[in-house]
Amino acid sequence: TPGRLEVITGPMFSGKSEELIRRLKRARIARQRVACFKPDIDLRYHRTAIASHSEQTHDAAVVTPTSDRLREDLFATGKIHEVDVIGLDETQFFDQDVIPLALELVHLGKRVILAGLDTTFANEPFGPVPNLMALADEVTKLSAVCMVCGQPAIHTQRLGQSQELVVVGAAGLYEARCRAHFHPYLDEH
Ligand code: ADP
Repeated sequence: TPGRLEVITGPMFSGKSEELIRRLKRARIARQRVACFKPDIDLRYHRTAIASHSEQTHDAAVVTPTSDRLREDLFATGKIHEVDVIGLDETQFFDQDVIPLALELVHLGKRVILAGLDTTFANEPFGPVPNLMALADEVTKLSAVCMVCGQPAIHTQRLGQSQELVVVGAAGLYEARCRAHFHPYLDEH
């Protein structure tokens, strides 16, 4: 039987990690065997778990965010034969080859749940996530709360002037914003 590809997306603080953790916990309650991965980029909260901003956690293997490393961790170790459900957080940091890898896992009958940002702070497609959304069985697009007005927020606002794509670790660097209060190149609220 074929597996299933699920994508959980939306801006920062929209509850993507929370939703991924919720699905993985439910899968375990259903006695499914679960493996979860996250990139080694953002280790602020936990080295061996994915964590939400609301401090929920689920065990995770930390990998360098390349599809080669992910493939190796699943296949070279034989782990692939011992799991039914594969979760991945921060999917936006992986390369485009994570797309054929995800489809391969689905063809092997796995339920693959990918969480990640759909757009960057500059409002551009973020890594492989938009393509994965197109190929998924199910896409869950979550919104956060706009930090200016309280309306649903679909954007991630970077505060300050840095234009580097990946800036992690500094608190207060990003905010969720609605369309009206999102200014991709300058924080001018
Ligand atoms: P994501 O993985 O999408 O960044 P998380 O699952 O880590 O989101 O965190 C979601 C949690 O963040 C919410 O349940 C809430 O407790 C908290 N939070 C902080 N700021 C916001 C915001 N602006 N909108 C919604 N939730 C927020």
